[in-house]
Amino acid sequence: MPEEKKTVFIGMGSNLGDRKANIEKALALVNLIKGVKLLRVSSIYETEPQGGPPQGNFLNGVFEVKTARSPFKLLDELQKIEKHLGRKRRVKNGPRTIDLDILTFADRKVNAKNLKIPHPRMHKREFVLRGIRELRGLK
Ligand code: ADP
Ligand code: MG
Repeated sequence: MPEEKKTVFIGMGSNLGDRKANIEKALALVNLIKGVKLLRVSSIYETEPQGGPPQGNFLNGVFEVKTARSPFKLLDELQKIEKHLGRKRRVKNGPRTIDLDILTFADRKVNAKNLKIPHPRMHKREFVLRGIRELRGLK
């Protein structure tokens, strides 16, 4: 029997280069992942960087996908997109062309070295909470 499709919320952020274009490209690439369907995208918010070196403001948003792929496979695909869009991990919490973080994966919990779900810092980020509320149709 094929695995059931799960609803996944993903957070995205960009503070390097053409931020809006980076976000649009990332969304288009997410929709091209085999077995992943992009459903809805939240409003995009401008936020100040939290920690790290001095750097520009972020554009942030949240989107919802449906997939029967595993959380690990999805992480792998999201990291390929980050790489493709020119993300280089040089400085911890430094500027990035695109950051894609899995926030929630239906009601699944993951506590692996390279993958924590729900995302441990999601509740500290106002745009994440706002974005998820918006997509769930709540106030
Ligand atoms: P940030 O914490 O600022 O998003 P990175 O994007 O560089 O930093 O991610 C660092 C590592 O976080 C990744 O290599 C990935 O393995 C790990 N990680 C753990 N949980 C998650 C998650 N839920 N979504 C995305 N990456 C995650
Ligand atoms: Mg990340």
